[in-house]
Amino acid sequence: MMVGSAQGGFVLAIDDPRVPIRSVYVHIPFCTRRCQYCDFPTFRYTLQREATYLDALVAEWRLWRQQVVFGPLETVFWGGGTPSRLSDAGLAHALECFRDHFELGDNVEWSVECNPESLTAEKATLLAQAGVNRLSIGAQCFDDARLASLGRTHTANQIRQAVEHARHAGIENLNLDLICALPGETPDELEQDLQQALALQPTHLSVYTLIVEEGTVLKRKKERGEWEPLSEDEEADQYLLVCQRLSEAGFQQYEISNFSRPGFACRHNLRYWENGSYVGTGLGASGSLPGRRTYNLTRLQPYLDRVANGCLPIDHEDRISWASEAEESVLLGLRTVAGVSAEAFRRRFGVSLQELFQRPIAEMSAVGLLQADTAGIRLTDRGRLLGNEVFAAFLDAATEPSVR
Ligand code: SF4
Repeated sequence: MMVGSAQGGFVLAIDDPRVPIRSVYVHIPFCTRRCQYCDFPTFRYTLQREATYLDALVAEWRLWRQQVVFGPLETVFWGGGTPSRLSDAGLAHALECFRDHFELGDNVEWSVECNPESLTAEKATLLAQAGVNRLSIGAQCFDDARLASLGRTHTANQIRQAVEHARHAGIENLNLDLICALPGETPDELEQDLQQALALQPTHLSVYTLIVEEGTVLKRKKERGEWEPLSEDEEADQYLLVCQRLSEAGFQQYEISNFSRPGFACRHNLRYWENGSYVGTGLGASGSLPGRRTYNLTRLQPYLDRVANGCLPIDHEDRISWASEAEESVLLGLRTVAGVSAEAFRRRFGVSLQELFQRPIAEMSAVGLLQADTAGIRLTDRGRLLGNEVFAAFLDAATEPSVR
């Protein structure tokens, strides 16, 4: 439970301090310029901001070390923003400080998000030398005109160069992020994107359907009638095309938007979908600790001030009841192709999936969106297209048994 605040900051006392945390997320909130579809907490990069932010980030790591027990880390994910936007010196300093504060397990998966234009040969080498062994490169698409219209600051050629730099530095485990259902995108154009991505032989592909978020340039342009989104049917067809082409190319789909070569599923993201514990550090980062979710401050100056006062920069936290945790575990687990394991669920919650979610399981199975058997529950192919309907059925559906 949260035991108090000092100078407006949180002091944590987690419910079971003996359970060591083995996953850490780090947010680097800088980009060259905001992409038109982006609503993430990110700021325009300046060298001055980098120096101030990295000092605060390192201080935040120290505070977490004082308040939470960490085991050797099994997964680390640096996201953003654009971690590769840091200067060479800033990146080297941050990598070194991270290693000073956290012990890495022998088999750690350490991922770092990069944008093609800022992943130079020097940065790829710095990352590899520090122990980073997985890069997630924001490609989005391979058409220069569409990249420009999304506000991306790179070309298709720079994606290829970034992959080359990563490989040359010795990092072979590479994800490419792609976006489908882009304004006016035809199935042929999507095919081209997939072919060009596959030609780079990544181990992993994340393919997201474009979502038009509130407050983005894309949303304002849509409201002004400057572009029309694809219809729901066209969007579904694009998603099915992605699943089919990547399966033909030997990729296994393991989550709604994620595909990997056998053995290359992202272990850090799997921890999220297993509703496991991790600490989120940096501006706007969220974390999941036993019985609680933490949400860091999203505005830069309050974040810097809070850390300077010697307090964790947590804006607020949610206490998670037993029933909410069970529900979250199902909602997150259903995003994966493997679904929710009946045995793992019973081990964690002491009751069966059927006992707790009898109604939504029956309803969603009856309409062909869910498959339920003794091994557990999972979305059907159609259920993956209509995931939101299934998730809505499970919301607030857990009935806490009187005895557990
Ligand atoms: S690079 Fe990523 S985080 Fe930065 S503005 Fe673009 S989408 Fe947002």
